[in-house]
Amino acid sequence: MAIEALSSRQSEAWRDRVLPAVEAVGDGVWAIPVPIPDNPLVYTYSYAIADGAGVVLIDAGWDGEDQYRALTSALESLGFGVSDISGVAVTHYHRDHIGLVPALLRVNPDMWVAMHGEDLTAFERFYSKAVDMGTGVDPAVDIARAYGVPEERWAEVQSLQAGRGRTPASLQLDRLPENVLVLDDGSVLPVDGGTVTALWTPGHTYGHSVFVRADDDLLFSGDHVLPTITPNIGLDSAAITHSLGDYLGSLEKIGALSAETSVLPAHGFRFRGLHDRTRELIDHHHERLAEIRARMEETDDRSVYSIARGLHWSRGFDELHHFNLFAALAETAAHMHYLGLEVGTGALAARG
Ligand SMILES: [Zn+2]
Repeated sequence: MAIEALSSRQSEAWRDRVLPAVEAVGDGVWAIPVPIPDNPLVYTYSYAIADGAGVVLIDAGWDGEDQYRALTSALESLGFGVSDISGVAVTHYHRDHIGLVPALLRVNPDMWVAMHGEDLTAFERFYSKAVDMGTGVDPAVDIARAYGVPEERWAEVQSLQAGRGRTPASLQLDRLPENVLVLDDGSVLPVDGGTVTALWTPGHTYGHSVFVRADDDLLFSGDHVLPTITPNIGLDSAAITHSLGDYLGSLEKIGALSAETSVLPAHGFRFRGLHDRTRELIDHHHERLAEIRARMEETDDRSVYSIARGLHWSRGFDELHHFNLFAALAETAAHMHYLGLEVGTGALAARG
């Protein structure tokens, strides 16, 4: 099973963890890397789609001055100003995807913003500072205790919880724009030239959407399907009890698209081989579930922390700290929920 990179410039940049150049990735479609500060992912791709005389963006990248400059100067090199952006469709509410939307709206308040209703709700919770931007975890639950984290490591985990963090000023909107397009499964984006359809792919976040241009088999996959890494399943606290089941279902759904599909992910590089990649991701999670079942047999301490410690992690469990520890625990908890196992004490009941 193998995927085929569709751009050596992109795959080499990903390998070397440097910013690739802006490049055309389809008829009237360009990939614009927007840097993510101090992050091993290095960049998020914002995709620009020609829309009549203007342009529509799929995702906008992390917020910040350097990021704004990277995006707008790339658009300028393609002949577009910020006022030419007719709208931004957001795959999901995470900061490396939605971050620049408020800054773009300040300059161009007429553009539309499209995202799935579930992620719109999640974003509004963030915007009201009710939930921490990085983790999406409900402030009402003390994760460290619920997951059985040993006391000497509480601080690492608790510092990431909501209410203890702060929404950065650059992410704050005075209000959402008038023209928010609330996407559902099958919604068509108002793009002139080619039909771009949203498909609801819950999993990484509950409202995650991908966008398909069926005319020429383009899939803007967001974080749902990435070429070399697996998206975290479990940090979306409102959905953690069902996020893995959702994700596996969404992989099957995307796996039904054409085998010829060019996958345009938010991280990594563009590739062909969607069917193999979705199968690999499904297998990966089933292997993880088998590992958890085995671990349950061999330990009496069945807290999330204890189970997670017994699993294989690429850099080793003891090397996981702060956000990475937090993400590993959430990922483990999501798998435990899928298996119907007891997860912590009152931890993260779904809120719909
Ligand atoms: Zn992302």
